[in-house]
Amino acid sequence: MRRTHNCGELRQADIGKKVCMQGWVRFSRDHGGVEFIDLADAYGITQLVFDPEDITSGADKNSISESLRSFTRESAVSVDGIVRKRIEGTEDPKNRTGEVEVLITKAEVLNRSKAPPFELGDQKEGVLPGEEIRLRYRYLDLRRTEMIEALRFRHRFISAAREYLDKNGFVEVETPMLTKSTPEGARDFIVPSRVHPGTFYALPQSPQLFKQMLMMGSMDRYYQVARCFRDEDSRADRQPEFTQLDMEMSFVDMKDIQEMIEGLVVHIWKKIYNKKLKAPFRRISFDEAMNKYGSDKPDLRYGLPMVHITDIVKNAPYEIFQNVLSKGGAIVGLNVTSDLRMKDGEDSIGRNEIDRLIHFVKKSGLGGMTWMRATKDGLDSNIVKYFTPDVLSELKKEMDVKEGDLLLLLAGPKRNVLETGGLLRKKLAEDLGLTDPDDFLFAWLVDCPMFETDPASGKKDAFHHPFVMPTTPLDIENVGGASFDLILNGSELGSGSQRIHDPEVQRKIFKMLGLSDQKIETDFGFFLEALGYGAPPHGGIALGLDRVISILLHRETIRDVIAFPKNKKGQSLLDGSPQKVDDEKLEELQILSIAIDDINIEDIE
Ligand code: ASP
Repeated sequence: MRRTHNCGELRQADIGKKVCMQGWVRFSRDHGGVEFIDLADAYGITQLVFDPEDITSGADKNSISESLRSFTRESAVSVDGIVRKRIEGTEDPKNRTGEVEVLITKAEVLNRSKAPPFELGDQKEGVLPGEEIRLRYRYLDLRRTEMIEALRFRHRFISAAREYLDKNGFVEVETPMLTKSTPEGARDFIVPSRVHPGTFYALPQSPQLFKQMLMMGSMDRYYQVARCFRDEDSRADRQPEFTQLDMEMSFVDMKDIQEMIEGLVVHIWKKIYNKKLKAPFRRISFDEAMNKYGSDKPDLRYGLPMVHITDIVKNAPYEIFQNVLSKGGAIVGLNVTSDLRMKDGEDSIGRNEIDRLIHFVKKSGLGGMTWMRATKDGLDSNIVKYFTPDVLSELKKEMDVKEGDLLLLLAGPKRNVLETGGLLRKKLAEDLGLTDPDDFLFAWLVDCPMFETDPASGKKDAFHHPFVMPTTPLDIENVGGASFDLILNGSELGSGSQRIHDPEVQRKIFKMLGLSDQKIETDFGFFLEALGYGAPPHGGIALGLDRVISILLHRETIRDVIAFPKNKKGQSLLDGSPQKVDDEKLEELQILSIAIDDINIEDIE
């Protein structure tokens, strides 16, 4: 290699060395005939200098000067030079190479760049263009320090995971991309087969069935950095293809899987942050999470639980509550204690702020919000007159009220109240600054249900997926499932479960989900057959890699930790996909070509 050093490498100790540096011209500026160039690469930025008056280097000034004219921004260049100390007072302490510079003795353009469509400097200093431009020119966006850091961090995370899994006997196995549909609750991307016209493969929503069949194939411990595909409607932070750290183990129960994952996270923490993370992680049941925090992935870095007060206030002649209760609704309260609100002697939730919170609550579908303040004389509010002293004192007890506290009360249909309470809790935590972004609190959501009912259609769906082992008899109202989620600071990082290994139980679950015998046979016949050949007890989990990395790096979207993501509408702005294909190709696949623009509705009718 001609290059002797990268752009993040030179220090005081290198002063006097002859070096060859190669990279991209980030900035150049002329200071009275002396030219300064910031040379950048994946490792850092080094300052280059060309001083035509300087005679110490003995370089061919004319030739250098000629070459430097082609040193346009983002051109790939090569320079030879001598490392020297920067003039006193011009050092850059923010840059690791900021004490030195390279005096150019030879300059060469390797590939001249067109004017870049946006500034690639540090995001905090420069102004980033809209994301669409960054995605359109992703190869340029990737040259930015932030993006380089994200991909390196992601690599380190995966390497540490591989190291741990390898040490624990896991084998990395690739499962097929062209498959029969693997149901994870989303729509499949389908791929037409040319050889078998009219038939289709599906891209895997996850390797679920294959990893289970690996266990049936005696693989014992499997993992994969697996690409998953889900054809979902565009949602803020979803990608049609994303990556999971996917695992499966045989002859285990839920606790074994959870312990393995705790070990994995602890190992990664040690490797990346050199910190000892505390395990086992806290366990919280689905019911507690929903009832106390209004979310199946609660942020447990702060308290602010919802307290159910329906029974306490049910007889109070307060019309709003009575209306809600007559329809079977619920009433909950949040105690925003004074220590959370008082900053420098000032209450951060004054009257105006309460109005804003009421507005917030209304937006999520509740009629409004009632509130009370605890003064030294007791609870104070324009509605206390509806409550007897006994009710008020019970309320105080149940909500652990002290002088100065503020009670926010929500009433409405139970599901709506819990969800809104969860959102309100989160908003309060943000507004009151209750979380430390560098405090990472892992927990397990456990005791999950087996099914959930779609409120719109009333249809029963698998809470996790249909392969979860039921933990209670199937003939009861609320069947429990052996699934669990790893949660971190209010996000779900992944789900796992003990799987069904008895084909008859599996068949029953499919039936309970409304699948006909025929559908079960055509979609899952092969899988039920496999379960029938001595499938071992097994279970596993998959962690959403993009999400974990974006949380750890405090990036707003998972797109910022994926090299080539799609935009919010599922398009790749870089290569223009998805695209129409030539009619010829469609004919080959024996797929009808439909030019949507040409369709005349009347013709169809
Ligand atoms: N396949 C599941 C998912 O993608 C994870 C698992 O159960 O292992 O959520």
